Amino acid sequence: MKQNLCTIPLSEVLEPKRGCPFCRMERMLEERLLEYILGPAMMEPDIRIRTNQEGFCPRHLEKMLARRNKLQTALLLETRLLELEKRLFTPSLEKAGRAGGEALESCFLCRELAEGVERLLATFFRQYDASLEFKALFRGQEYLCLPHYARLARTAARFLPKKAQKGFHEDLNALAGTRLRLLIKDVRRFTDRFDYQKRENKELSDAQDALERAFSFLAGESVQ
Ligand SMILES: [Zn+2]
Ligand SMILES: [Zn+2]
Repeated sequence: MKQNLCTIPLSEVLEPKRGCPFCRMERMLEERLLEYILGPAMMEPDIRIRTNQEGFCPRHLEKMLARRNKLQTALLLETRLLELEKRLFTPSLEKAGRAGGEALESCFLCRELAEGVERLLATFFRQYDASLEFKALFRGQEYLCLPHYARLARTAARFLPKKAQKGFHEDLNALAGTRLRLLIKDVRRFTDRFDYQKRENKELSDAQDALERAFSFLAGESVQ
C-alpha cells in the first residue's frame, strides 16, 4: 500500500475540536482506503491479488455496497468470488475446510486500517513530545472516547520518553474524565425526564441526546 495514502496531517485532524479526534482520524483513513480500493487500486495487480486473497469483513462489504462505484465493487467482488471458488470448492473437502476458515476471517481493509492507525499513532506521539503548540491543540479537544483513551494509555510507554509520560496521562485523564463526569450528569437528567414531578423542569431539555453521547463515548464514533 502506498505510504502517502495513510499520511494524514494530524494538526488538521485536531483542528475542528469536535468529538474524539482519534475517531475522526480513523474515519478519515477508512474513507481514503475505500476510495483507493474502488479507484486507483483497480489498476494495480498486486493490490488486486491481495483483495482477492484477503476479502472483506461484513462491515466493509456494507460500506462498499453503500457507495456509488457499483462497477468497481462488482469487479472486485467478481475476482474475490473466483478466488474463493478456486480455494474452497475445487480442492479436496478436507483441504477446503481448512482454507475456508482462513479465507473467511480476514479483511483487506481492516488490516490496512490497523496498520495505518499504528503509523499515525507513532506520528502523534512524536509530535506531542516535540511541539508545545501540538500539545496545546491536543489538550483543547472536546473529549477522548473510552476505546481511544484506553489505547493511548496502553501505548504511551512504547512511544513516549519516560519524563513525558506523567504529563501525557494527566492530559488523557482530563480529556476522558471530564467527559465521563459530564455524561453522568446528563444521563441522570435524561432519566429525570421520565419522572413526572421533574418533567416540567426546562433545564432537562439539553439532556435529550445524552444516550447518544454516552454511546459515542463508550463505543467510539468510528465503529458505525
Ligand atoms: Zn475515539
Ligand atoms: Zn473490515
